[in-house]
Amino acid sequence: MNPEEKDTDCIFCKIASGEIPSALLYEDEDVVVFPDINPLTPVHLLVIPRKHITSLADMADEDTPIVGKMTRVANQVAREQGISENGYRLTINSGADAGQVVFHLHMHLMGGRHLAWKH
Ligand code: 5GP
Ligand code: ZN
Repeated sequence: MNPEEKDTDCIFCKIASGEIPSALLYEDEDVVVFPDINPLTPVHLLVIPRKHITSLADMADEDTPIVGKMTRVANQVAREQGISENGYRLTINSGADAGQVVFHLHMHLMGGRHLAWKH
């Protein structure tokens, strides 16, 4: 990958590169999936692009295929995790009001119990 697509201070870039060890449930040249360190649901995984994109609000036209691929990978991993049939949630928090705290684009893949919708 072009080094400019990485942020050397970003924790998710370090997980994607293996610099910080994490159990990877899926990886390919574009996308990595690993467990959230503070799971809120029985299955709580993070689906990230290897490319450092700070937030959904900052995605560019050229990133459209990668976000599509993240969704497809989430769908596959959900099946592997056995939560596809009962249902699961994919969430992207973008910016402060949504509670984004890690500024490397990620999807939360959550399931394994009934998830309330209204907050
Ligand atoms: P956000 O609020 O930005 O959408 O979610 C960030 C998520 O990343 C949180 O659910 C948090 O638990 C998770 N997280 C933060 N730091 C780490 C880390 O070092 N490793 C892993 N696996 N997850 C992390
Ligand atoms: Zn990053």
